[in-house]
Amino acid sequence: MTEEFSIPVSIPLDEDGFLRRECPTCEQEFKWFNHEEGDPDAEQVGQYFCPRCGEPSGLDTWWTPAQLEFAQAAAQPQIDQYVKDSLTDAFKGVKGMDFKVNQNWHSDSASPDPLIEPSDMVIVEPPCHPNEPLKVPDTATGRVHCMICGTPFAA
Ligand SMILES: [Zn+2]
Ligand SMILES: [Zn+2]
Repeated sequence: MTEEFSIPVSIPLDEDGFLRRECPTCEQEFKWFNHEEGDPDAEQVGQYFCPRCGEPSGLDTWWTPAQLEFAQAAAQPQIDQYVKDSLTDAFKGVKGMDFKVNQNWHSDSASPDPLIEPSDMVIVEPPCHPNEPLKVPDTATGRVHCMICGTPFAA
């Protein structure tokens, strides 16, 4: 089974439109501004720099543990369905075997509680890339790295 499939899971933004992130290097949290799809202000980059420690990492490596857990729980019913369909297909056409998938079978996983995104942290704007504002804890504004180019600044 090598097919890939994607399941859309919505992760909430805070009331200013920022998305919570966790650095895979230093494991500290911050938030980045979530641009709408096609927003001309959004920088097109191949990696982001951690605003907290300045280390770069790939675009898809910034999920917080809570977001990953949520996404997994939210996607589980669809994964179960996919597995069930695949099993049905796999056993179709097998001679001499009477195999039935119980269509009422489903896993016990209920839908997860929605994630709550508190509006904590303070907004900082990198002078080099003011179109990519960030949020960091108010104790961490003394030295912040621009997410796009990694340049440190004090807010
Ligand atoms: Zn970091
Ligand atoms: Zn910059």
